This record gives sequence, C-alpha cells and structure tokens, in this order.
Amino acid sequence: MISTVHQPQLPGLPSDRPLQQLVLEVHDRLCAEYGCPIPYFHTLDPLSELVSALLSHRTKNKDSHKAFQQLVVPFPTWEAVRDAPTEQVQGAIAPCTWAESKAPRLQQVLRLIGERLNGEWSLDFLGEMPVAEARAWLESLPGVGPKTSAAVLAFSRLRGRALPVDSHHHRVAVRLGILPAKVDVGPAHQILEALLPAEWTAQQVYDHHKVLMLHGQKCCFYRNPACDRCPLTDLCPSSRVPQPQ
Ligand code: SF4
Repeated sequence: MISTVHQPQLPGLPSDRPLQQLVLEVHDRLCAEYGCPIPYFHTLDPLSELVSALLSHRTKNKDSHKAFQQLVVPFPTWEAVRDAPTEQVQGAIAPCTWAESKAPRLQQVLRLIGERLNGEWSLDFLGEMPVAEARAWLESLPGVGPKTSAAVLAFSRLRGRALPVDSHHHRVAVRLGILPAKVDVGPAHQILEALLPAEWTAQQVYDHHKVLMLHGQKCCFYRNPACDRCPLTDLCPSSRVPQPQ
C-alpha cells in the first residue's frame, strides 16, 4: 500500500511505475468506497450507443435520455432519422443542449455511416476489431473524439475494453498528480489508459471509469472538494487536510 504523498511523474518513461502504483491504490480505495464491480447501465447496440453519446455531450443524463426516447419513437430506424427534415430531428431532441447543431451533425454522421456500410445499419463489426482500430474507425466520423469512441465500445453491448474520461475523472486525476494540469481531457485518454494494467478486463476498466467519475461527482467537487471525508487524502498533493509529517 502507498502511504506517502505521491511525487507525480509522467507516464511513458521507465520511472512511471510509481504512478501506476498510485493509480492502482486509488482504484482499490475507490472501489471499496463505491462498490465494484459496478453494473453496466446500458445494453444498447453500438450504433444506438453512438447516437446516445452524441446527444449526451454537455447534457444532463436525464435530458439526453429523454431526447433519445423522443427520437426513436417517431423515427423507428436510423435511416428514417437520416432522411427526416432536420427541424423534425431538432424538435425530437430538443431536451438536450445545442439541439440546433446536434440535429444536422447527427444526420451527417448517419449519412456517412450509411455510405460506408452500404445500408447495413449495424456497428456490431467493431466488436471483431482490435479496440484501437475500432476507436480509430469511430473517431474518423465528425464530432467523435476519444471520449465518445471509448463510450461506444465500453457502454454498448460490445463491452469493449476502453476507458472514457469525463471532466470529473480528469479533475480528480489532475488533483491527485496522475495527470499534469496542462493536459486536456482529450489527450488524457491515452495517458490514463496506458497506466492501467494490460491484464485488466473490460469490467475492471469500466469500474475504473465509474469510480473516478463518481468520486468527482460525490466528493472531489469542482468547487470546495470534501477532502475531510475523502479516502485519498494521504495520497493527494491537493488535499486540504493537513497530513502528519
Ligand atoms: S483529497 Fe481532496 S482534492 Fe484530493 S482527491 Fe480527495 S477530495 Fe479531491
């Protein structure tokens, strides 16, 4: 067990082992706090998960869920969403933020997928590809970055081994010294995933995403982190709780 305040080191160097030890210690403590394994919250096919992820950007879960439901009732196929008048799609997804830009973007993505897949309307083939290749395929679509590609593979019924990093996860990792503050959420994906043990299962990677996110939502708040009840204070260079010398 790590018991001293961590000295951050950049990953990718021979000296990054202490950083991986810190990540594993954080993972174990947060799993004890929030309860692992954590059940998956979706069983969507990967194309539906992609649409759901595109709608969820900067939107509360309950609002993006409502938008998704309002979209799939009047438009029972993705082909129908692609071909509908854009204002009707925009109206259906109105509960999410920026519906006016998400509607044309969604139709653009569906048009590209329709062209590439010759009308197959299934992304299940991504499950047969190495994760890195599947992510590259997804990220070649407009508006799809590393968080969305990881979410499609990890949260859909493909249950891929990919680590999404949201703003909560990013904030906690920076405060713990796992990530340099200047590394943004996008590039953080590669750094944080490289620190996870290669033998971890998809469920363990998913748990890691969930516990870091939950910790940011429930304790390590953007303003006024609740360090006095955090199980990581002795590991955290940003802790507001004085540590014994
Ligand atoms: S000690 Fe404070 S700043 Fe550090 S992870 Fe815990 S809540 Fe966040």
